[in-house]
Amino acid sequence: MALKLTEVGDEKQASRLLLDDPAIAAVHVRPPQKSGVVERFEATDPKPGRDLARIPLVNRVLKNRRFQFFLILPNQLIFWIVIVSGLVGTLVPGKNFGTAITWFIWFCMVFVTMLVVGRAWCSMCPFGGFGEWVQRRALWRRASKSIGLGWKLPESWAGYGLLISTGVFLFLTWIEEYFNIAGPGTPSYTSWMVVGIVTVALVSFLLFERRTFCRYICPLSSLIGSVGASGMVAGFRTRDRDKCLACATKDCMRGGENGYGCPWYTWPGSADSNLLCGLCSECYKACPENNVGLFVQAPLTSAIAPKRRRLDVAWAVAILFGLVLYQQVNVFDLYSKIEGWFNSGMHFPHYPNPLVYLGFIFAVAAVLAGFVWLLVKMLSPQGRGTSFGGGTGLAGGTGVAGAGPGAGALVSSGGGAAADKGLAGTGTLTMERVSEAAVGTKVAWRDWFMPVMYGLVPVMASDYLARQLPKFFFNAADVIQSVVGPFGFHSSLYGHQMLSATGVVRVQLGVIAAGAAGSLYAMWRISNRDFPRLTAHVVAARVLTTLLVLGCGAAAFFLYIGMHAAP
Ligand code: SF4
Ligand code: SF4
Ligand code: SF4
Repeated sequence: MALKLTEVGDEKQASRLLLDDPAIAAVHVRPPQKSGVVERFEATDPKPGRDLARIPLVNRVLKNRRFQFFLILPNQLIFWIVIVSGLVGTLVPGKNFGTAITWFIWFCMVFVTMLVVGRAWCSMCPFGGFGEWVQRRALWRRASKSIGLGWKLPESWAGYGLLISTGVFLFLTWIEEYFNIAGPGTPSYTSWMVVGIVTVALVSFLLFERRTFCRYICPLSSLIGSVGASGMVAGFRTRDRDKCLACATKDCMRGGENGYGCPWYTWPGSADSNLLCGLCSECYKACPENNVGLFVQAPLTSAIAPKRRRLDVAWAVAILFGLVLYQQVNVFDLYSKIEGWFNSGMHFPHYPNPLVYLGFIFAVAAVLAGFVWLLVKMLSPQGRGTSFGGGTGLAGGTGVAGAGPGAGALVSSGGGAAADKGLAGTGTLTMERVSEAAVGTKVAWRDWFMPVMYGLVPVMASDYLARQLPKFFFNAADVIQSVVGPFGFHSSLYGHQMLSATGVVRVQLGVIAAGAAGSLYAMWRISNRDFPRLTAHVVAARVLTTLLVLGCGAAAFFLYIGMHAAP
């Protein structure tokens, strides 16, 4: 029997229900007397008119079990060709298919899809796709058993949410810079990097349940998730949440006859952003009530609208902004001189010095965090401005001990282990926490940090795209030569630049200006929603956060002018 959220009275009853009926926890059984719980899980159903799955052809495609397989297959083939050509092909990076397609086109296009759609790449990704095929022992079939150990990620790790992925991305980027992989340099290095990612992904899929790798470990996950907040696809969501609250089976999460339980541990009934929907369509296939749709949304909605903002995402935005600024400053002579001093002092062989690399990135994140600390001090004098993530409160999301084929512990978009702890009432905090906990209580630093960092998503995202443009405009045409070259042909477009350096800079500046404009709009909308709860000085908060956006945009803007389209 399914109970509604408001029918669950206390924590003991909630714990008992969790043991008796795992599905009930999917409705989230925290006691409603905790302030704001019901509101945080209020309906997030997008408007019915924005449901693409109402189109008969889209419905047929999404219901077809081969849908994701055929999205993944072409990329799977290309990536295996990348690996092979990097290992056995020409040593000239511009003529080698592996390096040319990866660094001149793929990386740039992935950023475009993140900005426009969200996690579009995740729906067709060969890394996750390959691991999942092996784990399920099926290419598209709904298998009843999976192989592997099916572990859960330890709670102490899961609580860091997307920060693990952010850390892995920093590490991989450092490796890439050290070996000049994306330069591009020696083609085989690109192959080994791809082999490394595929291997780690495969091992993760065999050790852990579902897409633990995608949700926590993949180096691209936090970047795609945060940049994707700009995207116009809201993801798969429930059409009528009341049906979900009364639903006894929760097949969308536990798995049903026609579809697997959500591999990303997301409940379409409570998702309020596209952050953790991998667009795999399994919930759409599994729901027996035909109560899941594929919704589009206005750009930036997933940055502006979430009621359950996440501290891990906020830190990821700050750190990732530091990383892309690092990739701008490192082309300047002054940077080389400073790094030279560090290298000689540390006897470190060459760029990038790890101390300078991490020091710069975390200095940028610290400046952003410090700016927010000043905001709290100036505008919320009663606030606990020194709390940088500690304390107690509610962890977001829903949790359920899984059951059914292939199921394990399930959580929704709010967050895994954190949800379980919230249910048990231990109150231990993780990074996957929410801002609503502060409503009606003292204002803490994190309650400002989360909305302000979400407002910076567009300018951070545009900076990543702009950074990829020189390679695209200068070298994308080389890919033709890398394809026809092995067959003895020559492309007259080899070495052809689509734009001059000045043209590239102009496009970069336009992209940054658009990103800054997007951030100004997002921050303005966020200030209307979030700031009145945080301060009586909303106008001052708007002015200061506007200056922050302009400062971030100006930093990227003027660095691009100075870089003069350096790749
Ligand atoms: S999270 Fe990473 S591995 Fe998973 S689908 Fe997305 S890009 Fe691929
Ligand atoms: S989406 Fe479908 S399966 Fe999932 S809770 Fe709602 S009605 Fe139940
Ligand atoms: S909510 Fe989960 S199952 Fe549904 S499409 Fe998104 S990732 Fe797939």
